[in-house]
Amino acid sequence: MDVKKITVLGAGLMGHGICQVAAQAGYEVNLRDVKQKFLDRGMEMIRRSLSRFQNKGVLTEQQVHEILDRIHPMLDLKEAVAEADLVIEAIPEIIELKKETFREVDNYAPAHAIIASNTSSISITELGSATNRSEKVCGMHFFNPPQLMKLVEVIKGAKTSHETIQTVMEAAKKMGKETVLVKKDVPGFIVNRILIPALNEAVALYWEGVADRDDIDKAIKLGLNWPMGPLMLLDYIGADTVLSITEVLSQDINVKFQAHTGLKQMVRARLLGRKTGKGFYDWTKK
Ligand code: NAD
Repeated sequence: MDVKKITVLGAGLMGHGICQVAAQAGYEVNLRDVKQKFLDRGMEMIRRSLSRFQNKGVLTEQQVHEILDRIHPMLDLKEAVAEADLVIEAIPEIIELKKETFREVDNYAPAHAIIASNTSSISITELGSATNRSEKVCGMHFFNPPQLMKLVEVIKGAKTSHETIQTVMEAAKKMGKETVLVKKDVPGFIVNRILIPALNEAVALYWEGVADRDDIDKAIKLGLNWPMGPLMLLDYIGADTVLSITEVLSQDINVKFQAHTGLKQMVRARLLGRKTGKGFYDWTKK
């Protein structure tokens, strides 16, 4: 199938970025959120990001105008998906909310439309079962920020068709992304399955007094060539998000992924990282 029109659901951290890369690739994009103020905030983030590209000489003023012209912010779900070829869902990580949204999209979107979820941990198969088109439902997992990060994990649910996977991979490539296929709908997919336990181990080293914060981060930056250390990365992602993914991995895959007590303590103390101003680092001064 040739994708021409894309609808992005959710104008938050991920949704606005996905919307922007789709419009930059030449797609007409409807961007839907539930309140005008969230749409305004998303559009403002897109404008800021595009102007940074313009300042760097990556985009011309004319191109920025054309990209913005291809983005259509809207509140009405029915209108937003009525002509979509591909719907990319980037709403909060709450299973009932996602299932309800998939049900609604299934009612209003054309029969040929594919519905892809940007979820980090919710079962694609379960989201597919909320619709009458589970062969046209898959995962399309972008990384933060979508404007800069090259990778998209494409996840096959139990009933996802080969054609759906092909179409989504082609759309991702047109957006300038590299894709990998996740053949089984297992929590964590590839990247988080490896990353999240590594972050949990970094917390264990810190909490057990094996090494200081700065040495843990320095060791991994210099020893593994990570752009930042695991404790700083944890602060960027948020201890609460890391804890919730850890819980899914340990429940659904293996107890060996259980969260370290230190990670739970950080969440209880609201030391979540950048979003609360303090985590392993103090962000109030930066
Ligand atoms: P966010 O909270 O920044 O944005 C979610 C947006 O969805 C909000 O603006 C909210 O108002 C809106 N929304 C809520 N209900 C809606 C509905 N029914 N229709 C349309 N919009 C609705 O969240 P986020 O960080 O962008 O995460 C979105 C999804 O992306 C989650 O599934 C998350 O797991 C996944 N994800 C996040 C990251 C990350 O680094 N934040 C990375 C990869 C994947």
